[in-house]
Amino acid sequence: MTRAGSEAAFAAAKRVIPGGVNSTVRAFKAVGGTPVFVREAKGAYLTDVDGNRYLDYVLSWGPMIAGHAHPAVVEAVQRAAERGTSYGTPTEYETELAQLIVDAVPSVEKVRFCSSGTEATANAIRLARGYTGRDKFIKFEGCYHGSADPFLIAAGSSALTMGVPNSKGVPAGTARDTIIVPYNDAAAVRAAFEANPGEIAAVIVEPYVGNMGLVLPVPGFLQELRALTREHGALLVFDEVMTGFRVALGGVQARERVLPDVTTLGKVIGGGLPVGAFGGAAEIMDRLTPDGDVFQAGTLSGNPLAMAAGIATLRLLNDDTYVHLERLAKRLIDGMAEVFRRRGVPHTVAAAGSMMGFFFADGPVTDLAGAKRSDTALYGRFFHAMLDRGVYLAPSQFEAGFLSLAHNEADIDRTIAAADAALDEVYACR
Ligand SMILES: *Cc1c(COP(=O)(O)O)cnc(C)c1O
Repeated sequence: MTRAGSEAAFAAAKRVIPGGVNSTVRAFKAVGGTPVFVREAKGAYLTDVDGNRYLDYVLSWGPMIAGHAHPAVVEAVQRAAERGTSYGTPTEYETELAQLIVDAVPSVEKVRFCSSGTEATANAIRLARGYTGRDKFIKFEGCYHGSADPFLIAAGSSALTMGVPNSKGVPAGTARDTIIVPYNDAAAVRAAFEANPGEIAAVIVEPYVGNMGLVLPVPGFLQELRALTREHGALLVFDEVMTGFRVALGGVQARERVLPDVTTLGKVIGGGLPVGAFGGAAEIMDRLTPDGDVFQAGTLSGNPLAMAAGIATLRLLNDDTYVHLERLAKRLIDGMAEVFRRRGVPHTVAAAGSMMGFFFADGPVTDLAGAKRSDTALYGRFFHAMLDRGVYLAPSQFEAGFLSLAHNEADIDRTIAAADAALDEVYACR
C-alpha cells in the first residue's frame, strides 16, 4: 500500500503548521511513520489521499458513533447551514439538544454549551471553584481533561504519549492547585482531603478512563469518590466528554448508578462538529453568568450546525444501541485476546459500551503505572502491520478504540483475521 500522497501532504503541512498537525496525537510520534491524510470518510471507513481504505476504530477520537457521514446527520447540517451558520443569538436548537441531554443524563438538570471538551472541563472547574470558594482540585494520574493549563499535570492521552504530561508553560501557581493521585486509589483521595482541609473544590475524574488506554474503575471506587466529596464539601465532576452517549445514553453515571454534581460532555453530543457542554443540578448551574457570578462565554457556543448534528446523532441512539455495540466490542476484544493468547503475547483487554482497549501487558491494569507496563514498541509494530491491512487503530497505546453503528460483524471478523496476520508479520521481522 503506497502512502506517497500522505507523505507529500505531511511535508507540505510541516512547512506551515508546527509538527504538521493541529492536535498532537495526529502526528504518529508514538508509533513512528507518516500520519494518514484523510480525503473522505463514509460509514466505518476512511479513505486517504492515496485512495487507500481503512476500517476506522478511532472515529475522530470518539464523536462519530453514527459512523462517518451518516445521512441523517449530513442532512441536518445541510439544512441548518442553508439558514445561516452562526447568529450570536440564542436559538431553539440549543434548547432541543439541552432537553435531549437533560432527559438522558441522570444528574443533569441544566446544561451550558461551549465549543470543545477542553472548554467544558475548564468551565466546570471554574464553576466548582466559584461554587465552593476553594481553589484546589484533585485529578487522577493519566486522566485527560483537555488542554487547559490546570489539567496538564500528569495528563493522559497525547500528553502522556509525547512524554510531556507536565507541559512547559503552565505556571507553578496553577500546578500547585492541582492535586494528583493514582486512579482507583480511594485511600489516596482520602489522604489528599485530610492533608488539605477545607481547600479542595472538586474531584474531577474520567469515570471510565479512555485516555491511558481503556481503564475501568474497580468496584466501589466511584462510590467512594461520591462519599468522600460529599463528606468534605467538594463537588464531584465526572468528565464524560468521551463516555457520554458512548457507553450508555446516560453515560457512566447511568451504568454505575453514581451521580456526580457536575458532568462534562463533548464528542458524541456534537455528532462530529465542534462542541462541549457541562451540566448539573440547577442550583449549581445557576451560579453561571448571566444569573450568577461565575463567568462563561463563547462566540460560537451552541453553534447551530453543531447543535443540529448533535440532535440528529442523539436521535439515532437508544438503549438497544449500546447493547448491540457492546456485543460487537466484546466480539472484537475476545477475538483479539485469543489471537494474542495463541502466540503467548502478554495482554489484557477491556470493553464497555462501544469503547474497547487492549494493553500488551498482563492484567489487570487499574492505573497509569499498570498502563505503562505495556510493550509500546510492540504496539507500534502491531499498529503499522494493521494499518497495512486496512485497519486504522489509534496511533498510540494510550488511547481507547471505538465502534459505531456502521461497524458490523464481518468488519469485526476481518479485524481479528488482520490481527492474526499482523502478528505473523511482527514476529517474522524480529
Ligand atoms: C477528548 C476529551 C477532552 C477534551 O475534549 P476536546 O474537545 O478535545 O477539547 C476532555 N476530557 C475527556 C475525557 C476527553 O476524552
